[in-house]
Amino acid sequence: MKFSDVIGQKEVKEKLLLTVKEGRVAHTQLFLGKEGSGALPLVLAFAQYVNCENKTENDSCGTCPSCRKFEKFAHPDLHFVFPSNKPEGFKEEPSSNTFAGKWIEYLRKVNAYALQNEWYDFLNIGKKQGNIYARDANNLIKALNFKSYEAKYKIAVIWMAEKMDSSPANKLLKTLEEPPENTLIFLVSERYELLLPTVRSRAQLVKVPGLKPGDIADGLKKHVFVNPDIDNERLNYIINNAGGSWNKALKLVTEYDDGEENYKEFREWLLLCYKLDYKNIFDFVKEISTKGREKQKRFLNYGLDVVSNSLKINAGQKGLITGGVSEKEFLVKFAPFINEKNRYEFYTALNEAIYHIERNVHPGILFGDLSFTLMELLYKGRKK
Ligand SMILES: [Zn+2]
Repeated sequence: MKFSDVIGQKEVKEKLLLTVKEGRVAHTQLFLGKEGSGALPLVLAFAQYVNCENKTENDSCGTCPSCRKFEKFAHPDLHFVFPSNKPEGFKEEPSSNTFAGKWIEYLRKVNAYALQNEWYDFLNIGKKQGNIYARDANNLIKALNFKSYEAKYKIAVIWMAEKMDSSPANKLLKTLEEPPENTLIFLVSERYELLLPTVRSRAQLVKVPGLKPGDIADGLKKHVFVNPDIDNERLNYIINNAGGSWNKALKLVTEYDDGEENYKEFREWLLLCYKLDYKNIFDFVKEISTKGREKQKRFLNYGLDVVSNSLKINAGQKGLITGGVSEKEFLVKFAPFINEKNRYEFYTALNEAIYHIERNVHPGILFGDLSFTLMELLYKGRKK
């Protein structure tokens, strides 16, 4: 990956680039950063940069033969050590070499924003913890002692270095102290206090701070939100709760989208329409009109789910619906109101509303009209 693919971390990037410019790249470095700060992506961007055949002052080219391999995290001179364990039913001894292909697949999936537990799930090791084994150290030493295939620098990345106990660590001490020629070793760790002092003392420390809210916001706008005008309410919620972690921010995006909020609001709205409670409908319309378009669309999309779930329940397929306990209870109660007399119109009304929101129709008018439509349809649905 290029430095520009790493979220935020401007200062760390600048420091790393300066070491290249001044020809003082330390051969063994320890990137220390909390989960989600991007320590591993920084390491991989740096490894790609030092080997790029066409680098600029600030970034690798991304397209030279070396970069193309680093972009895929699969370069013959890029060696990984990471914690592993035996997946269910696996007979061989686990090691980084055994799971190298799986590891690269995972890195591509998460764009190098790797999380320990997520990796263990991906590896399917159940409740077991991963370890870095003595054989991992032996394999790495062997690999680094070969001449490099094509790269300027052979690169070793030891991810979650705190997972090394004294046995692999002792084997590596000499290599960390004095790597073979043209070799760079990058240790990545989340927990400094768990690293063996003998390992710590042999590496130059690179501190990777948590991400700034502004950097997370920029990252989300660049990589996640399809619609360029993101509603600020959603964005603020995410950056204020992400705690400097890119992974947490991504998780919050999903949570926010799928949260219970839509369910509660939609249930309330239907109830008001059913009771013809004009005063509170008016308040509801006013409230939802202040929210961003993305939020309004998610809300209406949730409404479409309610319609399709109701139809499933009516068809005796209750087992197919998803959601929490109270949400399911609500759906079961509501389902009889959606039937052959109104189901098509329900779908059409909600779909058209989404269409109009995308085209900037005034939300107050739209949700007001839609409320009247729903009143009518609910009335239609319960008529004998
Ligand atoms: Zn390049």
